[in-house]
Amino acid sequence: MSEKSKSQLLEEELSYEKKSYFEIADEEERKKIFDYAKGYMAFLDAAKTEREAVTEGIRMAEANGYTPYVFGEKLKAGDKRYYNNRDKNLFLIVKGSAPLAEDGVRILAAHVDSPRIDLKQNPLYESGNMAFFKTHYYGGIRKYQWTAIPLALHGVLVKADGSRVFVTVGESDEDPVFYINDLLPHLAQEQSAKPLGSAIPGESLNILIGGLPYPEGDVSDKIKLNVLSLLNEKYGITERDFQSAELCVVPAFRARDIGFDRALIGAYGHDDRVCAYPAMTAMFDTDAPEHTLLTILADKEEIGSEGNTGMQCRLLLDILEDLAASDGVSGALVRSRSYCLSADVNAAFDPNFAEVFEKKNAGMLSAGAVMSKYTGARGKSSTSDASAEFVGFIRKLFSENGIAWQTAELGKVDIGGGGTVAKYIANLNIDTVDLGVSVISMHAPYEVVSKADVYALYRAFVAFCQK
Ligand code: MN
Ligand code: MN
Repeated sequence: MSEKSKSQLLEEELSYEKKSYFEIADEEERKKIFDYAKGYMAFLDAAKTEREAVTEGIRMAEANGYTPYVFGEKLKAGDKRYYNNRDKNLFLIVKGSAPLAEDGVRILAAHVDSPRIDLKQNPLYESGNMAFFKTHYYGGIRKYQWTAIPLALHGVLVKADGSRVFVTVGESDEDPVFYINDLLPHLAQEQSAKPLGSAIPGESLNILIGGLPYPEGDVSDKIKLNVLSLLNEKYGITERDFQSAELCVVPAFRARDIGFDRALIGAYGHDDRVCAYPAMTAMFDTDAPEHTLLTILADKEEIGSEGNTGMQCRLLLDILEDLAASDGVSGALVRSRSYCLSADVNAAFDPNFAEVFEKKNAGMLSAGAVMSKYTGARGKSSTSDASAEFVGFIRKLFSENGIAWQTAELGKVDIGGGGTVAKYIANLNIDTVDLGVSVISMHAPYEVVSKADVYALYRAFVAFCQK
């Protein structure tokens, strides 16, 4: 082996180089990376909507000794609670041993809604010997990606008597799936010449749900009637029940290993369950912490964090106020001492589309958890932009705990942008920075992440909870 030159040694000492976590990890750690992915993939398959993620989150929390949180209760160190907000937004709380007046709350905030296609309130119709559902897409989808793939239906209907019916069709191997028609290339000359964003209009995202006419009678829409009759038989519902319903169409794919070496995971909705799962498991794996811990799984992030299940809802403030009151201190003081990792994804550098990235500041697949000091668009519009001091604090924490992490911006400066829940939490006078996972094909029906990054994020959250 040749000896390193003085300049090589100096470069090693002074420069920063992004490295693959797979390369840094020893054999034992690499095994942990692959083992951790199995639990995450099971969570992905169990929780394709925010409602399912909350149900699954509660199941996991209860298995780890969590019980429902009651406003006004006085928590002791080590108490574990969850708060279920309308089945779509979940808070996990562990009371730490340190007083809230000194130590504040350590918050992990992820979202559990993903871009998808919702049914309209009057969805059902028949045409061309087929029955369809009319839809209204939810979040930033690229519409052309959702045609001609197998789809599943998930959701809830509230019947006239107020009772709820839960529906999941398209996930088991015996189930039928659903479909959005697309044009054959032979007749797509005009469509193919259109810009990608307008080639598939929103009103054409109709879900194919049937083709069998009702066997008798003289009604005009026999296929529609037959579908209604089947739904009535199975769920006891009528056409009007769709008006008090939340029915979501999601890809029918399951999470799978990607690649010969199985290094990557393909799945629907990594954004943002790839942060929700590590946040929850990091809390479950933290016993009797010094810090009081709070994990938030928010809804409605993909449409602006609005409403009473989104991150802009007052509920977070109410819970923090209540925790402060239980310690006999002011909420304002507790918030001023609290820290938050806003847990959301960033775009991974994609060599197939290198022109939209600035490589030096892009999230690199497998290079560890990705920190975004700021998000937003153009001149840092609409971002909370974490302070150098808070980033420095997190950096020190990660370096002391051997966490693989990197920083990233979402694409080139003028090319686009995006936001997360970070600013809503920062607005409460809480130091907040984004930390997540780099994703290939974000918001596509099937997104890709690296197993190394998922495990790195989990380890980062554990360090944040425990140190
Ligand atoms: Mn997200
Ligand atoms: Mn998103």
